Amino acid sequence: MAEIVCKLLIIGGGPGGYVTAIRAAQLGIDTLIVDEGPLGGTCLNIGCIPSKALIHAGEEFHKLTEAATGGSPFGLSAASPAIDLGKTMAWKDGIVTRLTGGVAGLLKKAGAKSLRGRASIRDGKTVTVETDLGPQTVHAETIVIATGSEPVELPSLPFGGKVISSTGALALTQLPESLVVVGGGYIGLEIGTAYAKLGVKVTVVEAAPRILPVWDAELTGPVAKRLAALGVEVMTGAKVTGLTDDGETLQVATDDGSDITLAADKILVAVGRRPRTQGFGLEQLALPMDGPFIRIDNQCRTAMRGVYAIGDVTGEPMLAHRAMAQGEMVADLIAGQPRVWDKRAIPAVCFTDPEIVSVGLGPDAARRDGQAVLVGTFPFRANGRAMSLAREDGFVRVIAREDNHVVLGIEAVGAGVAEFASAFSLAIEMGVRLEDIADTIHAHPTMGEAIQESALAALGRGLHL
Ligand SMILES: Cc1cc2nc3c(=O)[nH]c(=O)nc-3n(C[C@H](O)[C@H](O)[C@H](O)COP(=O)(O)OP(=O)(O)OC[C@H]3O[C@@H](n4cnc5c(N)ncnc54)[C@H](O)[C@@H]3O)c2cc1C
Repeated sequence: MAEIVCKLLIIGGGPGGYVTAIRAAQLGIDTLIVDEGPLGGTCLNIGCIPSKALIHAGEEFHKLTEAATGGSPFGLSAASPAIDLGKTMAWKDGIVTRLTGGVAGLLKKAGAKSLRGRASIRDGKTVTVETDLGPQTVHAETIVIATGSEPVELPSLPFGGKVISSTGALALTQLPESLVVVGGGYIGLEIGTAYAKLGVKVTVVEAAPRILPVWDAELTGPVAKRLAALGVEVMTGAKVTGLTDDGETLQVATDDGSDITLAADKILVAVGRRPRTQGFGLEQLALPMDGPFIRIDNQCRTAMRGVYAIGDVTGEPMLAHRAMAQGEMVADLIAGQPRVWDKRAIPAVCFTDPEIVSVGLGPDAARRDGQAVLVGTFPFRANGRAMSLAREDGFVRVIAREDNHVVLGIEAVGAGVAEFASAFSLAIEMGVRLEDIADTIHAHPTMGEAIQESALAALGRGLHL
């Protein structure tokens, strides 16, 4: 069996793992990154990027459909549009290939080595990698576990046939006539909305009393409205119990005690993701866990010296930018630099239509924390740029401490507001007060003016409402 010796071994080439590898190699650390699949992990291959590509294609098709059916507010018209989903997916795959190739190039440029194969942990310093050329043993001083997460399967509805995961939904080459989305969280709704815009009859089945339960009802209201306008049927308080005996129809039990059946060409199960902690010898290390996640401290250290864990395998929020930030910190730590996880906020974005972005605390969470707060809201219906885009739905909301006006959270729902995430995060990391936002000149006409107006509203100085 071939033997490799390195200083740092990273298991998993997703955004957590590859960022660790790039930064560590830049710092001169002898680094090897192992992945059984293509580099880029869930995010680049079957998650963030391909889903956003499909969402964009759906939006473009929807605009053409509006123009073809006399629904364009801009007076545009078009002949009946068509889509070749095979071509759409090939375009999406092209983006994925460019990005994953880019990661390989960045690793090489930084001087990190990479190895394709499945890693199995033997002990805290030894890992076996099953490669196409046979098993290789890797001896490393330090190991970073970045094995990510995988979709949760419903026991009553295992993946296979017409029952698909988000991975399957992002790889369809023919439009189904109907799609049932089981789970009204961000993954199910993002993909469901994209297919609804492509003309598919979409039904969402959610067990909770409302969709997107992570965000409050005010923020999710405009999304629910738009889903209805797009013809998406949303069933809340409804649990899927399985398929009928012929495997064709979905059985659903509703909160009011009735049982119904739903026919669908495809059923997307998007009920959550679980950390990948099994099947690769992690149990050999007998690490303390936090529920299903690997327990880490504020430097991403596990309980075993020289073994770090980052990304989805370490807990919520399971988001690519959290994984990347942890990876960057861990590389610095391994190089001997003093670092600690001291982030004030991790932005959360939902790429539905309209989009939702939230950073820091919402009003309810702030009050639960015992804070007396000022809340300022500004609706896009009073924003000139939103009007010119025919997208007046949604608002910006700022939440600040009542006593010293330090901003605790900024949230928005509206078309394209995902791009606000950077401004919101920057403001909270910098510890801004309402006055800082209110006294900053915001360009006119932009939807971003609503950020300034929400701060003015919280201060009782609103100008345009
Ligand atoms: C449909 C969808 C949409 C999403 N959209 C967003 C979004 O818009 N924004 C966002 O921030 N997040 C989004 N996410 C979540 C995001 O993809 C994850 O949070 C992120 O990929 C986690 O990064 P990671 O490095 O922890 O793990 P992953 O990206 O899951 O990478 C883990 C890697 O480890 C490898 N691996 C695992 N075990 C082994 C082993 N034993 N040997 C070798 N290799 C192994 C896997 O092959 C994989 O490549 C989305 C996810 C999905 C599914």
